[in-house]
Amino acid sequence: MLEKIEKLSKVLNESYSEKSLINSLGTFFEKNFNIKTFSIYTENDEDNLNKIDSNNFNYPIFKHKKNIGYLSFSNETEDLDEFLKYTAPFISLKIQNLILSDKMQKNINFHETMKNIAKIIETQYELNYVIPIIGEMLDKFFADCLIYIFLKDENTQGNTLAWPSACNDTNILDIVSRIETPVFTPDKKTLALPLKSEGREVGVLVAKSTNKEITPKDTDYLIQLSVQIATTIHRANVYAEILKHATLDALTGFYNRRQLEDRLKQEVSNAKRQNSPLCGIMTDIDFFKGVNDTYGHAVGDLVLKTIAKIIRGQLREYDIAGRYGGEEFSILLPFTKIEEAQRVAERLRKLIENNEIDISKVNPDSDTKKIKVTLSLGIYEMTQNDNGEDLLKKADKALYQAKNTGRNKVVIHNG
Ligand code: GH3
Ligand code: MG
Ligand code: MG
Repeated sequence: MLEKIEKLSKVLNESYSEKSLINSLGTFFEKNFNIKTFSIYTENDEDNLNKIDSNNFNYPIFKHKKNIGYLSFSNETEDLDEFLKYTAPFISLKIQNLILSDKMQKNINFHETMKNIAKIIETQYELNYVIPIIGEMLDKFFADCLIYIFLKDENTQGNTLAWPSACNDTNILDIVSRIETPVFTPDKKTLALPLKSEGREVGVLVAKSTNKEITPKDTDYLIQLSVQIATTIHRANVYAEILKHATLDALTGFYNRRQLEDRLKQEVSNAKRQNSPLCGIMTDIDFFKGVNDTYGHAVGDLVLKTIAKIIRGQLREYDIAGRYGGEEFSILLPFTKIEEAQRVAERLRKLIENNEIDISKVNPDSDTKKIKVTLSLGIYEMTQNDNGEDLLKKADKALYQAKNTGRNKVVIHNG
């Protein structure tokens, strides 16, 4: 008996999760008591507790005299009964500890998720960029749920899907189109929460469980997260409004899209009036998503800043650089013919290709301290028949070709 207790104690000491405990206890009871199958049922998982097999030998376990579950054995033997009399309280204690640490881990993960969202709120304002990050974080945290984020369209006042790219569940679409207060479906597997910030509705968060009902704890998590997400969206909306009147992009110091378009119009009309050449360059970082995914978004931002700085360093005072989209920059080169534009573009491409970016300050946890990225570029020289839009469109077409033919290259649009 003593020997068996010692063995059990070893099993208990070495288990770090409920699953590993069940497995190693199973082996232990099989070897020492000829038990064919062994399981644990606890009130922690009610669904599971309801499925307990009454034909089994079910030995109750307690926490402060309260029955919290059963050790369930396929068969009963006399010495097993005797053994459990002494040892069941220890097994119960171990189970309680594991359940507690599981709960704590989930809590830690939750706070980590909240913290990450809060960080995004501070630094990022573009919804196209922020929503997928939040969506991915929630997907990871609620592993048993499908997460949908809808955004309110200011013009139509309807909610349109922003994460993920598709939702074929007509039930969800129906709920979202009519939602005013939090809604649970009758089967308790889908929860839709209106996203409200400063009294305004900015969208809807939906979680749909793929197996069990959504637990009260997860409901609580979802409600807390919905508040954070609503704040993020609200801030982004306010920022977009401010941005319309601002000139420079905060991250790169380049013109923002709107300002770039204004300058483009001016430059095109100047060039036509003076009959001088004007070239446009469109650039896009290669495999940039991979940088974000591997090293984190802060490193992604550093890469954007670094490339912007390199570009600025190569331009003349009257050249114009703008942030066209997330990681796409546009450059306008007045008084420049295509051959010269090509030289500028090639020089940029090479400088960036050879430039090592020190990421150790931004991501101290990364084993990689320095990274390199490459840039694809498309260029075009305007003709008398083109307008500003044509100029960038054609440069973009060339960029697309650069992407499709190997990246890290300069392609001239001709035609
Ligand atoms: P490709 O070579 O085809 O261009 O691949 P890619 O991964 O660069 O292409 P894609 O256009 O799919 O990815 C662009 C990524 O840029 C997705 C988005 O996460 C990232 N991004 C956009 N804006 C920002 C930003 O402001 N900061 C950071 N860190 N990433 C951004
Ligand atoms: Mg891109
Ligand atoms: Mg890219």
